[in-house]
Amino acid sequence: MNLLPFGKLAAYKPRKFVPEKIDLGDWPQIAPLFEQLEAGAARATTAIDLERWLLDWSELTAALDEESSRRYIAMTCHTDNADAEKAYLHFVENVEPQLKPRQFALEKIYVAHPLRAQLPQPRFHIFDRDVKNHVELFRPENVALETEEAKLGQQYQKLTGAQTVNFRGEEKTLVQMGRYLEETDRALRREAWELVAKRRLEDADKCEEIFDELLKLRQQIAKNAGFENYRDYMFRKLGRFDYTPDDCRKFQDAIEKEVMPAVRELQSQRRAQLQLDKLRPWDLSVDPQNRPPLKPFAEVGEMVSRTQKIFDSLDGELAGGFRQMQDLKLLDLDNRKGKAPGGYQSTLNEARVPFIFMNAVGLQRDVETLLHEAGHAFHAQATRDEDLYAYRSAPIEFCEVASMSMELLGNEFIEEFYPAAEANRARRVHLEGIVGVFPWIATVDAFQHWIYTHPGHRCDERKAAWLELMDRFGGEVDWSGFESARAQSWHRQLHIFLIPFYYVEYGIAQLGALQVWANSKADKAKALDDYKKSLALGGSRPLPELFAAAGCKFQFDAVTIKPLIQLANSELKKL
Ligand SMILES: [Zn+2]
Repeated sequence: MNLLPFGKLAAYKPRKFVPEKIDLGDWPQIAPLFEQLEAGAARATTAIDLERWLLDWSELTAALDEESSRRYIAMTCHTDNADAEKAYLHFVENVEPQLKPRQFALEKIYVAHPLRAQLPQPRFHIFDRDVKNHVELFRPENVALETEEAKLGQQYQKLTGAQTVNFRGEEKTLVQMGRYLEETDRALRREAWELVAKRRLEDADKCEEIFDELLKLRQQIAKNAGFENYRDYMFRKLGRFDYTPDDCRKFQDAIEKEVMPAVRELQSQRRAQLQLDKLRPWDLSVDPQNRPPLKPFAEVGEMVSRTQKIFDSLDGELAGGFRQMQDLKLLDLDNRKGKAPGGYQSTLNEARVPFIFMNAVGLQRDVETLLHEAGHAFHAQATRDEDLYAYRSAPIEFCEVASMSMELLGNEFIEEFYPAAEANRARRVHLEGIVGVFPWIATVDAFQHWIYTHPGHRCDERKAAWLELMDRFGGEVDWSGFESARAQSWHRQLHIFLIPFYYVEYGIAQLGALQVWANSKADKAKALDDYKKSLALGGSRPLPELFAAAGCKFQFDAVTIKPLIQLANSELKKL
């Protein structure tokens, strides 16, 4: 039984190294290919041989990556199918743990290779830099600490995942409670919000304990790797070669100076429209004019054909890419029983085609998600001709430029879904969301910078640091009576616990997306041309060059942000 909507897809280029007949879920068949590569590197006598060897390695990695993606897709499309689950778990439990050390062994062989310095530049610069960085940061004594770290992460997830409340006689998860904050009945919103806040506070001490343990481990990991603090270690680990902690601090300051006035203005408009004296934490998601939710489409087929029309208006090439995804059945978008929650874009790395998974139910959010994931899919399509596996994907700071730009560019044609007034309402919600997320990004980022550069801090000092940031970036929301909830509100941000420092990327990318959008207002054809060219570079160039190719500055200071917020503001005034 074929569980994949797209069935068998041909490899984009015929295999040269991996045998046609091989079960890529069976480690005993895979291992000899790694042995071949390990031995093969020594036989390379020219830089051309070494390049050939890198391409063989790329081919194997891509084939294994596609195998893993196929199993993941099959499982998420059919959570009720035991075979799909078994096949996925088999790969995770029996192949992946073997794969990791063998991939790392190849990286070490590459870094130690005498011909490495003779590879053509700048072609191999980024690849070389990243592999070397990965090898250099590895410490055998950190392996056990990272396992401990992952276990603590699981404890946090278990703790927060088990949080439920009893709301009007029904047990609800905190995620399910989120939708009540959109209800027009204010008393109901408050009741829902308070229940959630109280439930979170019950686990506050445990969250702090888990975090203190994580902190100790992380400081040790950084020390073992030869770094003074965990912040500096993570900047290297995340491959942040093109920006520094000081750039992030400037970004935070710029958000305070340029974005906060706009946020305060939007909040006071909201307060006035809701006819309230004060904006409370439960007043932030409801429609300020108390209108029912937008209904962009009734069924998924409609969502796809209207999104196609948006791309048709935007750009012929991108429109062709989206049409191809439909023809090849690379979309599974409807919400149905037996499907995993959420949405993602995945790439089948041997066929070199993108796949989009979603659970659309007929909300404006679904339209935004599809535009966003389509942006990622266009990125994958644009890099098809790149043979080096590592270059077929870009750093996250730029991947999100591809997707977030598509939300903004696509929204220009959102009339495909709505009459004029509703189209403006949809655009307004989207733009307000963009302006409003910057302060939270600054808060989460600045907090982590503080945490990891203040070793040995006490719990109350950490709380004070958080509250200071809430004062800077919280706007005019009145939390009185809920001071403890405010002081612990970082506990719900899973990134701080599970993927430290990974957050500012969204802010950086949003600046890029706003610039692409601003460019399109001046010259749509050129902006789209630049957008496509920058996507085609994949991960082959450093971030400032990727941004430059897209027609953007890679800068996050006040000078860059100011005109972008002005543009958002003046657009908002039209809506
Ligand atoms: Zn994304």
